[in-house]
Amino acid sequence: MLESAAHVGLQATDGPLSMDKFGAESARIGREVADGYHRYHIDTEEVDDVNPLPHRFLVTVGKVGLAKLISKEALTYFRPWDPHFDVILSRPCTYGVFSGPLGGFIPRPKLCVGCLRCEVQHPEFVKVLPNPDLAKMGDSYTTHGHIAAIDEEAKKGMVPVRGQGYRGRFGGPGFDGMLTDMSEIVRPSRDGIHGRELIGTAVDIGSKPMHLSFDSDGKLSGSTPEMFTIQVPFIFDLPPGNLESTRLAEVVESTSRGIDTLACLDAHTVARNRLDAPNVVPVLDNAEASRASEFPRARLIELRSTPGRPWGWDAGGFDLAREVSDAIIGIRIHFEEGWQDRMTKAVESGAKVIHLLADLHGRGSDGTFVTELFKEAHMLLLEQGRRDTVTLLGGGGIVGADHVPKAIISGLDAVALDLPVLFALQGRSNGSLRQRAKVDGTLPRELDQEWAEQRLTNLCGSWRDQLLEILGAMGIREVRRLRGEFGRSMVVRHLEDEAFEGIAGYVGGGC
Ligand code: SF4
Repeated sequence: MLESAAHVGLQATDGPLSMDKFGAESARIGREVADGYHRYHIDTEEVDDVNPLPHRFLVTVGKVGLAKLISKEALTYFRPWDPHFDVILSRPCTYGVFSGPLGGFIPRPKLCVGCLRCEVQHPEFVKVLPNPDLAKMGDSYTTHGHIAAIDEEAKKGMVPVRGQGYRGRFGGPGFDGMLTDMSEIVRPSRDGIHGRELIGTAVDIGSKPMHLSFDSDGKLSGSTPEMFTIQVPFIFDLPPGNLESTRLAEVVESTSRGIDTLACLDAHTVARNRLDAPNVVPVLDNAEASRASEFPRARLIELRSTPGRPWGWDAGGFDLAREVSDAIIGIRIHFEEGWQDRMTKAVESGAKVIHLLADLHGRGSDGTFVTELFKEAHMLLLEQGRRDTVTLLGGGGIVGADHVPKAIISGLDAVALDLPVLFALQGRSNGSLRQRAKVDGTLPRELDQEWAEQRLTNLCGSWRDQLLEILGAMGIREVRRLRGEFGRSMVVRHLEDEAFEGIAGYVGGGC
């Protein structure tokens, strides 16, 4: 506080201030500084559906059985003066499924939460079944459960809470094979989403020197940080498959600007629609590296392999892009055979951002899952003694809020979102949900810019809140410190091996 006062020149015109006046003036300045402080926040707001998902459950009611029940209840409880009389008419569901104008004769399944009370109580005439139309959405990796969660998060901007506890499996394939350590014992008083104590979600994109050097005058010499900061550890990746369009590009551009993150867009789309901006990352083919000069406002430009030269690291293109642009030049590297060499060469040549890509099921070409691949990339840079000089972005298989911290624990600085954007905007997928090039999606026909921007903002707000919860529960005060914190995770396969190895009948490697 005194330092603040000194900065603004606490100096009386007619001599030094008395201690009282100094204290008051110092407090006033401190108040001004505090009032001017803006805590980062994402403004969420519930929005309507334009293309609602199918209901989770189908509710079928036998009309005869229901008529009998109502007659019996009416005879037994007919007391119109009782203020709770209307409860009879809504039975057997307290969620309102049977409370429409014609009661259970025309049930309202969109209100059903699947508690099964009605079926348990009246098995003779009520049946509640999962809706097959919802069940067939998605695929084996991006399940209808992920899609429904994203849809709800993008609609409400809140953390989905069912009040029924966790009903899934403890352990499973992919990210479900990693548990995070959130025990009370390691938990100091961090405060999650309630905000009494700040937990930082900002991350740095670019390069920091591994150590600082000073000259004989004490001035900084040698390499200095070359980076910028974004407020959340996730960015929007290139829309996969046929999703790239001007409409979508404008939505992700404005959303990323609003929440202070980045949107990767095809460089041609950026140029054609004049979207060059600090929050936009134009993605160029290596062969077009000289076009990097066309994006003077970009802070990060990414290079990808030229079609027909799969997964190639092109030093020539990288040098050319660096010559013609002041932006940080990042390299997109697919997890194809030999990616480790390509990454090492790129970093040795001066690349400060490496954007790693698995397929949309989170697998590399050899079938390894991204948690292992991200870890390998992180450890490789650590062993080379240059981890902080490089930012690792990564995408592929990130379709749930919990996947973000798990990918960061595995070694990433920030994750890249692809399919969640499609489902947040209530788009539908018709093609592959595994191979990026074969994604065939449709967005709602009338994609209103404001609506779409709010949906994406809501998704980001919800995912950030869930990240804050996990950081709070771990007692970690900023997401930068989560990177590569393997000690905060447990791999289910390892736990099972530890517990059951040597016991007859146990087959390891289940998850
Ligand atoms: S399952 Fe539960 S929520 Fe659904 S209709 Fe029956 S009582 Fe209502």
